[in-house]
Amino acid sequence: MTTVSGGSRPPSTPTPGPPPAQAIGLLPSAPAIGLPPSAQAIGLPPSPTRPRFEQPPPLSLYVHLPWCLRKCPYCDFNSHALRADDDVGALELRYVDALVADLEASLPTVWGRTVTSIFIGGGTPSLFSPEAIDRLLVAIRARLALAPALEVTLEANPGTFERERFEGFRAAGVNRLSLGVQSFDDRMLAAIGRVHDAGQARAAAASAATLFERFNLDLMFALPGQTLPGLQTDLETALSFAPGHLSVYHLTLEPNTLFARFPPPLPDDDLAAEMQDRVEAVLAAAGLSRYEVSAYARAGQRSRHNLNYWQYGDYLGIGAGAHGKLSLQDRIIRQVRWKHPARYLEAALAGQAVEQEHEVAVGDVGFEFMLNALRLVDGVPTELFGRHTGLPFARIGATVSRAVARGLLEPDPQRLQATPLGLRFLNDTQALFLADEAKKSAIMVQLVAEPPP
Ligand code: SF4
Repeated sequence: MTTVSGGSRPPSTPTPGPPPAQAIGLLPSAPAIGLPPSAQAIGLPPSPTRPRFEQPPPLSLYVHLPWCLRKCPYCDFNSHALRADDDVGALELRYVDALVADLEASLPTVWGRTVTSIFIGGGTPSLFSPEAIDRLLVAIRARLALAPALEVTLEANPGTFERERFEGFRAAGVNRLSLGVQSFDDRMLAAIGRVHDAGQARAAAASAATLFERFNLDLMFALPGQTLPGLQTDLETALSFAPGHLSVYHLTLEPNTLFARFPPPLPDDDLAAEMQDRVEAVLAAAGLSRYEVSAYARAGQRSRHNLNYWQYGDYLGIGAGAHGKLSLQDRIIRQVRWKHPARYLEAALAGQAVEQEHEVAVGDVGFEFMLNALRLVDGVPTELFGRHTGLPFARIGATVSRAVARGLLEPDPQRLQATPLGLRFLNDTQALFLADEAKKSAIMVQLVAEPPP
């Protein structure tokens, strides 16, 4: 997992996009911009239990590119190793065609709305050529209205690094790079099965720092055989490139991965907790404050795209296995695209990229909101709940009071924010907002599988 950002090009300007869906007969006239008709408009009785949006939340675009050089043994993302006989040039040509077809077919669900960020994730998007990324971004600009200060992030991996390639991404309009370094220690990189070595990681980080004003480095800790001094060296090496943003993840053994079947020896819980404390202390001393469970940033460098996820904003997800969440006038829907690249290619080119779509049950919306919002160390303004869920605060008011009484949420009526205790036991704090245990497990599984917030 990686990303890039930068900014030699001016931000993308809003473009007019295609004619309104109504004009081409896809939808009846909708009373509010970008929103399909309400239940009432099509003759159903008004229901006070449905969400109601005057304006939908901010909209992001996630684009999934599913290929990697090799599958890492801990990875449970929808990523697929390239085969020796894969022709990357032909593959990227067809895949970008499929993404454009997917986007075209999705336009009626987001018509009239402005996209505030684009995140090209994977997989290893930097396997694609700058020409393919340029073609993709040109197609997006021609079809969607884009915010003037658009953030365009691309994930890149050091194993696919060439300076000219990074320059090409920047010229295509990428203005933030996220680089999947994971460690600067050859032994750690080998232990977690990464294709790159420490020298490549350093070279890629140095180029990211030179070419992009905004860039992120991904690091991992609690790696097999890792020590506290080893982690300290990794952090100091990362800081030597002066990144504005660091994502630091605790290695976990996810089901259906090679590591789950053949677990490596990992640091015990006490050492892992010490490592977490060390990460926070070292990064805070360097001016990068923790603003989310795994994210640290200098002022002005927070990931706008990920913040939108955590604030329960909307996102259209295109690409193999991509998830999306969209607020319509009186409901919230979730979509999942076909997961396997070959199936996705075929389906998307036929205008049928979405494999599953369902409406989020009203009873689950409060839990989903808190599941995301409480990951933010500063929480969110209380009024955001109504704006981004379309529901009254009363839906979660009693549970908020219980969480405050138990010391898990701050007693500030203006903010929904976990206390240090609530953040330490985040799963339990979030789970308070869903009483139904069976549903809780199902939703946790589904949301954890979503694009990385
Ligand atoms: S490079 Fe990233 S997405 Fe690809 S297999 Fe490794 S961890 Fe997964």
